[in-house]
Amino acid sequence: MQKRIFKTIAILTITVSLIVFFASAYILFYKASQNTMNTVQNETKQIASVLNENPNYLENNTVLTDSRITLISSTGEVIYDNTLDISNLDIHKDRPEVINAINDGYSSSIRKSDSIQTQLYYYAIKLNNGNVIRLSQNTNTVWGIIIPQINLIVIATILILLLSLFIANWATKKIVEPINKLDLQNPLSNKVYPELTDLLLSLEENNKVKREFSANVSHELKTPLTSISGYAEIMANGISKVEDQKIFSQKIYDESQKLINKINDIIKVSKLDENKVEQDYSIINYKYLLEEIIQELKPNLSNKNITLETELQDVSGEAIRYIIHDALYNIIQNGIKYNKKNGKLYIILNQFNDKIYIRVKDTGIGINQDDIPRIFERFFRADRSHNSKIEGTGLGLAITKHSIALHNGTIDVYSKPNEGTVFEIILPKEKSSL
Ligand code: ADP
Repeated sequence: MQKRIFKTIAILTITVSLIVFFASAYILFYKASQNTMNTVQNETKQIASVLNENPNYLENNTVLTDSRITLISSTGEVIYDNTLDISNLDIHKDRPEVINAINDGYSSSIRKSDSIQTQLYYYAIKLNNGNVIRLSQNTNTVWGIIIPQINLIVIATILILLLSLFIANWATKKIVEPINKLDLQNPLSNKVYPELTDLLLSLEENNKVKREFSANVSHELKTPLTSISGYAEIMANGISKVEDQKIFSQKIYDESQKLINKINDIIKVSKLDENKVEQDYSIINYKYLLEEIIQELKPNLSNKNITLETELQDVSGEAIRYIIHDALYNIIQNGIKYNKKNGKLYIILNQFNDKIYIRVKDTGIGINQDDIPRIFERFFRADRSHNSKIEGTGLGLAITKHSIALHNGTIDVYSKPNEGTVFEIILPKEKSSL
């Protein structure tokens, strides 16, 4: 990151410096040309008015000026020139400013001279007797201003570059230093710039979730272990009746199973959380996958005498099979677990555009409006008293939510207590849209 900030600042300062430099050169050039043009125009006007009074003025007087003065007859012959020998000069009738001055009374033009660095500005006025008086001066081009100063410019550019790099280095250090010194264990104790507040708040939230998770894990594991240890102790003391021993062993077995399920779910949710799942994408047929899950849950359905209705289109998509399997298994299992005896379960699968839609609807106990936002939290089980008879770890939906998010999908829930619940999962068909 340090390198990127440095690069951005360096590019920015260098670009700004170069823009300022060239803009200044252009402004200088513009001002200088404007000056020259004004001078040439004024001088031409003055000489023209003198010549209108006294047509032979130039032949008899010397005009002190930096401009080249040329007097041209209406036929184009050069009558007078203050810098060049007129006998060597060709007919000037083709010069644009002369042609235009004859037609319009006055005219100007800018033409490049042989050398690239200079160009000439001409101003011409038609006199009362039909002759044309024309003055001209060199005006610099932008390069004409820059090139003579090239040594200075190179030195200035190097200085600007060095200064930019120095500023970029200093600014980068200033930005990065407080970030490197952050106390990540106690994010809110850091006194840094306000731009980091959101980051620190989410870090704090993250830490809180982690702390709660550890506390919950210990608590959730302790409950079955306490039972196991209690039953085992009674059996070990030899104070239990022989006929109870079978019951106690069964309880120990059941509690151990619960413990194993919980640990498996904890491992799953942690792996998903840390992005440590194998990114094993393949094309999966969702219809077959759902049919497979239904088959696995057949005993659960018949135990509660639940009628299943399905509407499964032949839909395929790219996904990590075992992750999607577990996610959908949890939702369908819940639709049975939290259903009423003789209830109904609907599973609908279809696709629209490049998305896959899976809806699981039950006619079960439903979820209180207040609990809905919390059901995806780890270890959250709505209405504990009601749920105490229903087996669960409170991790299923947390796993499902993470799994769907990993595939860049969404999961929504609609529920009414005592009427039922609908879970809607939307998944992209292709991994490329991740
Ligand atoms: P659990 O192991 O308790 O089923 P989940 O994470 O799968 O854990 O679900 C969290 C809680 O959400 C459940 O304890 C239950 O209160 C509620 N819940 C989930 N699915 C349903 C459903 N289909 N109908 C009613 N309540 C549900």
